[in-house]
Amino acid sequence: LEAQLSHAQKMESVGRLAGGVAHDFNNMLNVILGYTELALQNMDKDDPLYNDLTEILDAARRSSDITRQLLAFARRQTIAPRTIDLNETVEGMLKMLRRLIGEDIDLAWEPSSGLWLVNMDPAQVDQVLANLLVNARDAIDGVGRVTIETDNAVLDEAYCADRPGFVPGEFVLLAVSDSGCGMDKNTMDNLFEPFFTTKTVGKGTGLGLATVYGIVRQNEGFITVHSEPGQGTTFKIYLPRHVGDAVFEPLFTEPETPLGT
Ligand code: ADP
Repeated sequence: LEAQLSHAQKMESVGRLAGGVAHDFNNMLNVILGYTELALQNMDKDDPLYNDLTEILDAARRSSDITRQLLAFARRQTIAPRTIDLNETVEGMLKMLRRLIGEDIDLAWEPSSGLWLVNMDPAQVDQVLANLLVNARDAIDGVGRVTIETDNAVLDEAYCADRPGFVPGEFVLLAVSDSGCGMDKNTMDNLFEPFFTTKTVGKGTGLGLATVYGIVRQNEGFITVHSEPGQGTTFKIYLPRHVGDAVFEPLFTEPETPLGT
């Protein structure tokens, strides 16, 4: 319990710090981006500085992507949960996800019929799947396969007894498996930590899974990871089943919630 509490607190303070820095940094980046674009527009393509400026623009855009991730992690956005069928939400994203992982990776979609409903902001489902699929793509690094599955799942006392923090109940399972490189023990122990990454500078921020974790916990769900080095990895996300009438208007909107609690 102690370790979990400190994890939650760390997530929250890192989130606040990251959000503040990202916000100020983003304003300055926009100045750089704006003036560089302007300079390029007024410049002849043969100008010796044209390529240099293009490099500056590329780097500024990449930096902007990273600050966007930081802001998303700090969850400055408003969330609007409503009752959704995850199968429909995922189906609506498949095209985008296929583009994200590229042509060398086969994307298998295995929806369960009669899937229970959940309450969640569909934009958060997008964020979760995009982060998991980028990681799957990077872990495969070539030809491979990613499978997205859904199912109804009942977590019983026995299952939860072994997993600190898990509460028994009825859940909808969203699972993402990949045929990638898998993870060693150190990575498994740290993967949800903000800023933990094994990727090279500029490729990973270490915020993808911390964001996923924050979103899952915000929705009172749970996440598990199974990984075999050289075989692949499976992330399982359990979201609480919605019972009663579906609510299609946002249940509430929440501008800022503590991270990882
Ligand atoms: P980032 O992707 O920016 O590194 P994440 O928080 O998304 O940050 O992931 C943290 C680390 O966890 C990654 O650097 C990688 O080492 C490991 N990881 C995440 N997903 C996978 C996966 N599907 N297969 C293997 N390793 C993974």
